[in-house]
Amino acid sequence: MTVKPKKILIVGAGIGGLTTALACLHHGFEVQVLEQAPALENMGAGIQIPPNASKILAALGLEQEIAAHAFRPQALQTRMGQSGRQVFSIALDAKTLNHWGAAYYHIHRADYVAVLSTALQVRANNALLLNAAFSHYQQTADGVVAHMADGRQFHGDILIGADGLRSSVRQQILGPEQPRFTGNMAWRAVVPLAALECPPPTSACVWMGPGRHAVTYHLGDGLVNFIGVVERQDFLQEDWHTTGARQQAAADFADWHPMITGLIDKAEALHCWGLYDRQTLSTWVDGRVGLLGDAAHPMLPFMAQGAAMAVEDGWALARCLASYASDTPRAALNIADALGDYQRHRLPRTQAAQNASRRNAKTFHRSTVVSQLANYGPMWLGGKWAPNLVRQRLDWLYCHDETAVTVG
Ligand SMILES: Cc1cc2nc3c(=O)[nH]c(=O)nc-3n(C[C@H](O)[C@H](O)[C@H](O)COP(=O)(O)OP(=O)(O)OC[C@H]3O[C@@H](n4cnc5c(N)ncnc54)[C@H](O)[C@@H]3O)c2cc1C
Repeated sequence: MTVKPKKILIVGAGIGGLTTALACLHHGFEVQVLEQAPALENMGAGIQIPPNASKILAALGLEQEIAAHAFRPQALQTRMGQSGRQVFSIALDAKTLNHWGAAYYHIHRADYVAVLSTALQVRANNALLLNAAFSHYQQTADGVVAHMADGRQFHGDILIGADGLRSSVRQQILGPEQPRFTGNMAWRAVVPLAALECPPPTSACVWMGPGRHAVTYHLGDGLVNFIGVVERQDFLQEDWHTTGARQQAAADFADWHPMITGLIDKAEALHCWGLYDRQTLSTWVDGRVGLLGDAAHPMLPFMAQGAAMAVEDGWALARCLASYASDTPRAALNIADALGDYQRHRLPRTQAAQNASRRNAKTFHRSTVVSQLANYGPMWLGGKWAPNLVRQRLDWLYCHDETAVTVG
């Protein structure tokens, strides 16, 4: 017998889980988000929202709220870390943004999560449950039960693991395979613009150097975000509570441009974060259970796409379930098939983003003058003489409009 799904249990209230909840509500489902934390944390870092993600936020009616808290960068740039010399710059002018089809934003993560969680609360009061640590799931003939660590149980038609890099849902589907440490750690800080003598440009700027790179960008409310990535084998933590010594960060970026050293100098706290990814998973689905976001495809942040892909996943999942649930020939499909559609549709694109992020690690960290010239020379020439070609290399990511896709 075919049962149309109604209630969707979502484990995890990160950017992926919250967006998925909103997308599922938008497509007419009931949702229950189960988050282990007692409160959604005030995470001290910024995030880039590229056009492929902002299209979905717009479709969810959230663009005004996001824009109210966000900064709109004027360009995407790469520079040399020590000299500050520009390698290329893509202007984020009206023509480019029209071509990509949506705005590019920088926002504080706490503001991003607050916009999503407030919208969820307004649209479905009580849909978000905090202090709800998922333990395991159990599938029955007509549903799925989420068992909490404290013994509570929640019943639904479908369960989605949006529980991040160390997903318990993923572990139940695929067994105890660990994420892979990539040999990179990231310094992360948010610094008041007013504290900086030499503020970074108003672009999303990647600063490249041997075995390391930095990313700087402005946020709303007069703040600047700093990420400093260093190749290191000995740093494995990834949580919001680990901070490191300013001296160490300063040593990692000694002799770099004053815009970088100034950010390290003025940061109140320098968070440290080990960077992990996974090989492409063989499956994201087990019957009525599916994975999404970092639980399914964690990636290095070197394309600024991890959360954007989670946002795309959320919309795609809701659409696949809705196309199954709606009054169409697809209504004959069962839930596993709808989740299978979702996985088949999303896997190639998220895998491409994972691979592109890995490739950027090599591009950004060239260590010899010869390899720098061989790589950055053509980039510089391309930026100078064929900026449209440089821009077009990002079209596959930014032109994509998940809200316009039809599956089936
Ligand atoms: C340095 C850095 C910079 C980045 N910059 C960008 C960027 O600019 N743009 C971009 O798009 N991406 C960026 N990313 C990637 C992005 O942060 C992640 O891809 C994204 O946050 C993943 O979202 P998620 O919802 O899938 O997982 P998470 O954010 O990890 O959320 C998972 C949630 O599940 C909860 N949870 C876990 N286990 C359980 C359980 N058992 N029971 C209940 N709840 C549970 C957690 O508490 C958490 O709230 C960056 C990453 C890093 C490290």
